[in-house]
Amino acid sequence: MNEILILPNDFGINTFCENQCKPQERNNFIHMLATPPATSTLIRFQDFEYQRPDIAALSAEFNQLLEDFEQAESAEEQMHSFDGINILRGEFLSMYNISHIRHTINTRDAFYEEENNFFNQQFPSFESLNSQFHEKILTARFRKELEAKWGPQLFRIAELNKKTISSAILEDLQEENRLSSEYMKLKARAQIQLNGETYNLSSIHLLETNADRETRRLASVAKWNFFAENQEAIEGIYDQLVKNRHQIAVKLGYKNFVQLGYDRLKRSDYNAEKVAVFRDAIAKYMVPLAQELYERQRKRLQLDQLKYYDIDFRFRSGNPTPKGNTEWIVDQASKMYSELSPETDAFFEFMRTSELMDLENKDGKAPVGYATFIEKYNAPYIFSNFNGTSGDIDVLTHECGHAFQVYSSRHIKLDEYKWPTYEACEIHSMSMEFFAWPWMPLFFEKDSDKYKFNHLASNVAFLAYGVSIDEFQHTVYENPDATPAERNGFWKAIEQKYMPHCNYEDNAFLQQGGFWQRQSHLFNSPFYYIDYALAMICAMQYWKKDRKNHQDAWDAYLGLCKAGGSQSFLELTELGGVISPFEPGVVESLAKEVKAWLDQIDDSEF
Ligand code: ZN
Repeated sequence: MNEILILPNDFGINTFCENQCKPQERNNFIHMLATPPATSTLIRFQDFEYQRPDIAALSAEFNQLLEDFEQAESAEEQMHSFDGINILRGEFLSMYNISHIRHTINTRDAFYEEENNFFNQQFPSFESLNSQFHEKILTARFRKELEAKWGPQLFRIAELNKKTISSAILEDLQEENRLSSEYMKLKARAQIQLNGETYNLSSIHLLETNADRETRRLASVAKWNFFAENQEAIEGIYDQLVKNRHQIAVKLGYKNFVQLGYDRLKRSDYNAEKVAVFRDAIAKYMVPLAQELYERQRKRLQLDQLKYYDIDFRFRSGNPTPKGNTEWIVDQASKMYSELSPETDAFFEFMRTSELMDLENKDGKAPVGYATFIEKYNAPYIFSNFNGTSGDIDVLTHECGHAFQVYSSRHIKLDEYKWPTYEACEIHSMSMEFFAWPWMPLFFEKDSDKYKFNHLASNVAFLAYGVSIDEFQHTVYENPDATPAERNGFWKAIEQKYMPHCNYEDNAFLQQGGFWQRQSHLFNSPFYYIDYALAMICAMQYWKKDRKNHQDAWDAYLGLCKAGGSQSFLELTELGGVISPFEPGVVESLAKEVKAWLDQIDDSEF
């Protein structure tokens, strides 16, 4: 397992949702703290101690504990071994996380680069120990007692892990990793020439949002030329990935990759049929609203037609920007979180004084955004690359949502429960973006309505795009023998259904259905994308509740955060007082509410 498991967010190259992230995946394994430092003792991140784990000693101890667990003669004995394993996992992951954070802060630091390589090499051994632990949990002699203490979710996770991992597929998994890394490398190597300058896929984005239409047209054409020139390579990688994943699924006894994709994401209480019904609701209620919003954009920009190179240029006067530098933004955020609730006040103060945030774009920093958690110090960590756009505020509030959840559930001493499944994780982050709304004047001053309008409108557009990516994946994996040209045809048809506004002018690559080829999730995180859309429908409910009664909305959200990952997605939505996105009527009612808010804003002068 290597870097691909740490999902780089598509920051800067994503048209629809600039701050898509997920909490660092590896943390989903284990978060358990043996002896939590007293919270009153503040230790700064730079003073967190790092020591490379001794894998041989760890394995020996882990194996001994597994044996003790199996041989336990009483529930107490079994719990004792269980706790011991948790401590070991927590120690290992704490060191991994400290190393990973320091490596991403400065990728040129030779020491942490070496440590990063060490973890990349050692993670499979660690994962294998963890799988054995999950297997033993399922057949534990005192399972009833363990289940009484931890609830059923741990066993669901263990069951799904067992279904999706087998020694028979190890080589296929390595191949899958290799292929998705190849795609990421191909994109990272992009050198786009324009007007004598060289851009990458991230830096070209600034020109794509330029106020001068010809500039953004040329930038967009140049960017898509990169994809057109690499079409054969990208389609080849994807073709191999689809066949590889299909083969893995068949070896594990699945009909095709679809259910395996769901099982890998630990989805225990919904299936592809439910998701299909959800996509239909988005098509029926959110897609028409998205179309209306594109029409408003066209009018604002005073254009005859909105072309593909106009989509990211939303306002004639430019997108709203925060009115100060990083330090100033953090000061404003401190004020915001101190007023939002006593819980966020304590949280943000802790993040700040313990120096648990690295926000500013710097030379040598990894171009990613994430939130993570260091068990040993009970400390969340936020990493981003501020670049002076409104995205900085989205990223800050978004990652603070993830970090606030893991901080709120840090009392649950079980790694499997530190973060929930991803659709639930993104509720915490996306809802926090909405809870921050009343404080937007702190960051955007007179432009705060413009920010809110843009935030809500782009989320509506995102829902249409999110379900498109999801439907595409279902079609692709249900038809593993389709040719690359047929796959482009699938995309074209899906695009017509959910994003009929797409006007590709004379761009042959886009016209034949090539747009999906930019979306890295398709390559490295299959079936993950719908999680953002499911979470958005929940987050919009908090947005709606918050404007009616802030205290009620906040209390419900806090309850959700405190539960961490101790329950499944639908159990968590119920606990958090939001209606499941699969329930009939919920998307329709939100579409009305969102439209009503957007309609009362006069955007003609934006
Ligand atoms: Zn996120």
